[in-house]
Amino acid sequence: MKPVLALVGRPNVGKSTLFNHLTRTRDALVADFPGLTRDRKYGSGRIGDRPYVVIDTGGIGEGLEGVVEATTNQAMQALSEADAVLFLVDGRAGLTAADQQLAQQLRQLDKPVHLLVNKIDGVDEHAASAEFYALGLSDLHPVAAETGRNVRRMIEQVLSGF
Ligand code: GDP
Ligand code: MG
Repeated sequence: MKPVLALVGRPNVGKSTLFNHLTRTRDALVADFPGLTRDRKYGSGRIGDRPYVVIDTGGIGEGLEGVVEATTNQAMQALSEADAVLFLVDGRAGLTAADQQLAQQLRQLDKPVHLLVNKIDGVDEHAASAEFYALGLSDLHPVAAETGRNVRRMIEQVLSGF
């Protein structure tokens, strides 16, 4: 069985960058423009002999002018297909209202949700992570999708649940 991992989070937190790292492709569109990845995007990868499927979503909270929309159909579908959710937040930007709204929605899923505090390259990972414990998600992983810092350890922990 290949566990299916859905990458969710508000725009610009690094979902597509992590997708590329986990699948080692340049397929997902990475940009400084929030909301550019419009479609769900599937990829596969493996750590050692453990394969997995990743879904990059760009569909959550991408309303205009910072308004957080209800979870879109595409993101909802990705969540329904997932065996585990990788919920990304931006460890440099800090905790936002959109993160809190998403966390509330994700807590209601009957699936493992891992909180990934991303962009911890060049910052103290403990300091960057501290405020995110308020989201009430116990599986917290400080990572840097861009450099790969802690990504292998994180994915091993996620896969160990299956
Ligand atoms: P998405 O909207 O969630 O898919 O975010 P993207 O993957 O497109 O990334 C948004 C921006 O954050 C881009 O400029 C990335 O280069 C940057 N970014 C992503 N991951 C990291 C990271 O680990 N560290 C740093 N410093 N920047 C990152
Ligand atoms: Mg994206």
